[in-house]
Amino acid sequence: MKWENKVRKVVPYVAGEQPKKDKMIKLNTNECPYPPAPGVKRLAETMNVDDLRLYPNASVTPLVDALADYYHVKPSQVFVGVGSDDVLSMAFLTFFCSGQPILFPDVTYSFYDVWADLYRIPYKTCALDENWHINPEDYKQPNGGIIFPNPNAPTGLLESLETVEEIVSANPDVVVIVDEAYVDFGGTSALSLVNKYDNLLVVQTFSKSRAMAGLRIGFCIGNEKLIQYLSDAKFSFNSYTMNMPSQILGVEAVKDDAYFKETVGKIIATRERAKKELKELGFTFPDSRANFLFVTHESIPAKEIFQALREADIYVRYWDKPRIDNCLRITIGTDKEMDAVIEFLKSYIERGK
Ligand code: PMP
Repeated sequence: MKWENKVRKVVPYVAGEQPKKDKMIKLNTNECPYPPAPGVKRLAETMNVDDLRLYPNASVTPLVDALADYYHVKPSQVFVGVGSDDVLSMAFLTFFCSGQPILFPDVTYSFYDVWADLYRIPYKTCALDENWHINPEDYKQPNGGIIFPNPNAPTGLLESLETVEEIVSANPDVVVIVDEAYVDFGGTSALSLVNKYDNLLVVQTFSKSRAMAGLRIGFCIGNEKLIQYLSDAKFSFNSYTMNMPSQILGVEAVKDDAYFKETVGKIIATRERAKKELKELGFTFPDSRANFLFVTHESIPAKEIFQALREADIYVRYWDKPRIDNCLRITIGTDKEMDAVIEFLKSYIERGK
């Protein structure tokens, strides 16, 4: 079929599976194991469905204002999207169009190369060092823009604010995007640098630390001019991206800072405990500051463990890719879920001896 020559062909991103089983333990997509803030539930139950006949607020003003207030920036420095995937995709479209290759780590969020291919953006990957760290020197070569997560995914490793600043300040002529999807679990945000560097865009999400993956809320903060360009691209694409319930419930989540901090604190405590117990079982891993661990066992291949867990209805993430094909990414669940995983692994490893 000749029309096929004219089609934009892409190899799509593959998200973690979403099995629906009663008794499963789902630790494969870095969701929060706890519910959203109580106020979100209360408000959801009293929402006026009749209002849904109207279009939502295209500029997402109340949520932008709430975020600006929370992060002590101007509303004109905030852009909200349908999950951070939407924000990142828009940012690729808007900021990475010089024709020069953009740079990102070789082991990183596997959506970056998909967006680059979708938008026909050339890219070059920079190898993480043998300890999975970014080498800032790699990001001092000519480029059309830079993106990396901090903490990185799937390694969970955090780069210092000094390293981030070194990369941002060495690249004043391009936009540098720091994807902070996991920063609330113990990272240091680069938000403190957005008023110092007009080329820095910091992206965050409600999907992990705010327990709202199902509502699809992401946002970014940066210099007003960056946000204006991003907004212009969005309004040239689709005005009404974020639905009304997400806008309303998102504001409610931001209001409850005590619940947010409590939830994050619980996940961090569980993560630190899981680190100790997994170490005792012969696992090694980078010292994660995210809500997941990226583990390798001293003797059993990751693929085998992945399959055994899956058969027991415990879902974790595995990639059959160079450099990471002996690693499993395990999302931090509740204490009870982690106990069950550790128990399973203990007896699985014993059986193999
Ligand atoms: N960035 C990173 C590094 C991620 O791991 C994810 C989650 N898949 C996202 C962004 C996107 O998350 P969301 O669209 O749910 O905000």
